[in-house]
Amino acid sequence: MKGLPAETDFVVIGAGVAGLRAAIELVEAGRVLVLAKREVTNSNTQYAQGGIAAALSDEDEVTLHLQDTLIAGDGLCNPEAVKVLVEEGPERIEELIAWGTHFDRNGTKLVFGREGAHSRNRILHAQGDSTGREILRALYAKAKTLKNISVLEFEFSTGLEAQNGRVTGISLISEKGLPEEVACSAALLATGGMGQLYRNTTNPDVATGDGVAMAFRAGAEVSDMEFIQFHPTALYLKKAPRFLLSEALRGEGAYLRNIELDRFMGKYHPMGELAPRDVVARAIVHEMEVSHAKDPFVYLDLTHLNAAKVQKRFPRIYATCMQHNIDITEDLIPIRPAAHYSMGGVRTDLEGRTSLAGLYAAGEAAATGVHGANRLASNSLLEGLVYGARAGKAMRAELKETKPKASGQKKATSQNGPVDAGIEEIIAQIQDLMWNDVGIVRTRKGMQNAISRLEELSPRLGHPKTRRTYEAANLQLAGLLVARSALAREESRGAHYRIDYPGHDDKKFLKHSLVKGESLKFV
Ligand SMILES: Cc1cc2nc3c(=O)[nH]c(=O)nc-3n(C[C@H](O)[C@H](O)[C@H](O)COP(=O)(O)OP(=O)(O)OC[C@H]3O[C@@H](n4cnc5c(N)ncnc54)[C@H](O)[C@@H]3O)c2cc1C
Repeated sequence: MKGLPAETDFVVIGAGVAGLRAAIELVEAGRVLVLAKREVTNSNTQYAQGGIAAALSDEDEVTLHLQDTLIAGDGLCNPEAVKVLVEEGPERIEELIAWGTHFDRNGTKLVFGREGAHSRNRILHAQGDSTGREILRALYAKAKTLKNISVLEFEFSTGLEAQNGRVTGISLISEKGLPEEVACSAALLATGGMGQLYRNTTNPDVATGDGVAMAFRAGAEVSDMEFIQFHPTALYLKKAPRFLLSEALRGEGAYLRNIELDRFMGKYHPMGELAPRDVVARAIVHEMEVSHAKDPFVYLDLTHLNAAKVQKRFPRIYATCMQHNIDITEDLIPIRPAAHYSMGGVRTDLEGRTSLAGLYAAGEAAATGVHGANRLASNSLLEGLVYGARAGKAMRAELKETKPKASGQKKATSQNGPVDAGIEEIIAQIQDLMWNDVGIVRTRKGMQNAISRLEELSPRLGHPKTRRTYEAANLQLAGLLVARSALAREESRGAHYRIDYPGHDDKKFLKHSLVKGESLKFV
């Protein structure tokens, strides 16, 4: 398959770990078109550092991985989905290794690292801190050997086409800037996360929640949107991007220190620096507040660790910090939390089916229920693999249901049109609103303010034409979904923390939020 076809058997929107793994599974059944809105190497997967979790070591057990995931999820994991994740995970990883993924080894033995809230050393990593990049490389290389798969870059999907309640194709702005449609038997949303909703984020520019927005507009159910994980430790330098300083650094023994240079995590949690991410992020916010600094931050300290070991284990982090004149083996690293991962997304069953026929979702864009209210570190690459493969398997059956039929019509609304002068300002406004009012610590007043200010933007974003205006409209919609769900959840749980409801309310809220159109309920 060369170039953009008018019809194909399967469309996979997204070329990260979930999309590529699904595509490989689908190839036995028919033609697979995989789309990426920029280069394949521009995705959350590419940036994943710390590793991928699986109970593969001699000292580990699947049941322990299950237990750790359930604890991190704070009561809201779907235990069945977690069971699938931890049981099928090892096999998916063995398969990755067979396809040429090089995880770090000591001689011939795989090396397992430790991360926050894991009770065993079970994190595989590659080239120290470039795990995602290595997995993506191997999956992409494998996909390229399969002639039924076509991976196209710079194809920007704008919406889903549906007939009689069934998704029959997608619309997009092509690499050439033209409006196009591709008909298919089934489509998979593997569009990744939505970190760009926030002023401070570890996610690359592509993470604008497009999949969730497209699915919601098409009438699909979205779930658990209020649960956004903030990574406690992102590099904080005025002019540098919020580069992630992996959890694995604390796993190797790094300390957190406030600006008085005191270690503070002991005050907040018995696991200290290895406490769950939401606890660490809130502890940092508190330390920043009580510092009364105008431009607050705290430090990550690795200076007591063996310098050669640190350099060898974290070559990418070491090199990136050096570019900013910070030698992590000698200097304290200024850090702040940043939006990192979206636990919610398009609601799916255990086979990646959404509530719309013909539409599937996998990876960070999906809400399978494996992460509950808070994701356990290094479980998301694994989720992409396990549930990408499952969605691919289930989608194969769709070919029997329908045959793709090209409509021959092209939508005249979307194209590369002139640059929209005010759009970057609007995006910045959304990011500031979300950071200030629907961030790490939430209040009713703040969330109400965010909702009304986001709604005010609707007329401005109602008829997107360029890629960037689509992204802005998707961010605004995703922001509203997060804020509405967060306002409705009158308790604190996992990554969702409200000052006005600091405790759990199991009676009312040991449930998933579910939004479809105007309706929002807990199920
Ligand atoms: C800095 C960082 C470090 C991380 N470290 C870890 C870690 O150590 N371990 C771990 O398990 N997880 C980690 N994560 C999380 C993990 O990387 C992601 O959750 C996971 O990679 C998501 O994979 P995905 O396939 O769902 O999406 P992605 O890898 O984000 O891929 C999304 C794809 O969708 C495409 N796309 C999006 N919108 C459109 C559109 N409109 N049209 C066409 N294409 C579109 C993009 O171009 C891209 O190809 C990290 C994340 C970040 C940002």
